[in-house]
This record gives sequence, C-alpha cells and structure tokens, in this order.
Amino acid sequence: MKVVRTIADLDAGTGIVGLVPTMGALHAGHEALIAAARAECETVVVSLFVNAAQFNEDADLVAYRRDEARDAAIAEEAGADVLFAPAADEMYPPGYQTWVDVDELSRGLEGAHRPGHFRAVATVCLKLFNIVRPRFAYFGQKDAQQLAVVRRLVRDLDLDLTVRSIPTVRDADGLALSSRNARLSAEERALALSLPRALATRDPDAARAMLDGLDVDYVEVADFDPPVLAAAVRVGSTRLIDNVILDG
Ligand code: AMP
Repeated sequence: MKVVRTIADLDAGTGIVGLVPTMGALHAGHEALIAAARAECETVVVSLFVNAAQFNEDADLVAYRRDEARDAAIAEEAGADVLFAPAADEMYPPGYQTWVDVDELSRGLEGAHRPGHFRAVATVCLKLFNIVRPRFAYFGQKDAQQLAVVRRLVRDLDLDLTVRSIPTVRDADGLALSSRNARLSAEERALALSLPRALATRDPDAARAMLDGLDVDYVEVADFDPPVLAAAVRVGSTRLIDNVILDG
C-alpha cells in the first residue's frame, strides 16, 4: 500500500477506482467499507483526514484518536492500495473560502445539533471526489444523514460516481462500532446499550420511553431512502449516534 500526502502525488490509475473516506481510528466498520471496495474496484483508495471543520466541539476534535501507523496497517490488511493522508493545509490552503451546502437535508437531526457539520462534510467529500476521481465511493449506513447528504450532493452536482452504502457493523452486544466508543467507561458503555435496544423497537415512542433518563438529543424517523429511525444520545461526555432502517 502506498501512502500519499499530496494531491499532486496521487495517481489512482485508470481502472475502476473506489474511494473510502475516513477520519482514521479505523475499526471493523471501516474494514467492511474497504472490503466492499476491494470486491468491485481495481484500485482502492482510503482517505485518512480528520476534517476539523466538521467538528463542533473542540474537546471532541482534541480527543479524536490519531494513530496513522495503526490505521495504515488496518487499511492495508483490509485491502487498500493507496492511503491518501493529506495535511490540513493540503486540503485547506491559506485563503480557502469555498463551501458547498446541501441545504434542506443538512438541517434536521444531526444538523440541528451540529451547525455547519454537513457543510464541512459535503465540502470535504466533494474535494475528495475531485481529487481521487472514484467510480464508487463507500459510506456507512451508521451515518444515515451523512449518506443522504452525500447522495444528494452527487445527484445535484452531476458527479460521475456511484455512492455505495454499507450496513452498520456492531459489536456482539449491539452497540454500533464508533471511534468514540473507546471513550466510554464500562459503566457508560452499559448505559449506551439502551441506544441500539431502543432503536431495535423500530418505534419512535417506544424508543423514546426506553431512552428516558439519558441525555437524548433526538429520536426521530427520518425520511431518507430508505427511511430510518435515528437517535443521538450523550453518555457522560461522549455523544453517540445510531439508526435502524425501517423497512416497508
Ligand atoms: P468516520 O471515520 O467515522 O468518519 O467514518 C468513515 C466511514 O465509516 C463513514 O462512511 C461511516 O459511516 C463509516 N462507519 C463508521 N462507523 C461504522 C460502522 N459501525 N459500520 C459501518 N460503517 C461505519
């Protein structure tokens, strides 16, 4: 696997290119995305870029796990050909001032609690699509609103690529894998399990009742394609999001 740090040095070749955008702290969820890309692309590019603009809380950004050697080993093992790991000023050079806003889809749920988050997500994804020029880009269903925003961005700006979604990978106890899970104490993790259990009811009222007593940001049905029951809770200082697909 080649590690590339600059846009000028990135050459993903001429075959079918798959892009898996990540912020590092890789886990089995990311591995599933990389494996899906490996299965249908000639060249698999994993990007590793902690996009500071999409963080709303400094503490969250500071606490974000950064271990490039570990991430590189996981990405390579999962099947990546190229790890694109640019510095912040390679992506946002001095004078940077262009942003893309997926208006309506960015407003509710996460958008309501994280102002500017999806503008930063949409912008960095568009930049990565332009830099890597993938045929396929792989995103997790775990971030259902992000997936909806990126799909809309691709459609609205006539981007020549297909967005693939990958089912949420969970631990044996049901908690969706997330880089932020490592911040939970044993006690907090036990509390956090109410989140997947509540969502598994697939009923917003029942889910709300089960989450009573936790610090809940929202529990809502979102009319994405497919529709989901999505929720965000805070457990101690850690904010967790999850969703389940509502079939039919
Ligand atoms: P992140 O590095 O957390 O920004 O996530 C990079 C990609 O991995 C996004 O498309 C996420 O939706 C996806 N992802 C994160 N957690 C999971 C998970 N538990 N299962 C599947 N995909 C995931």
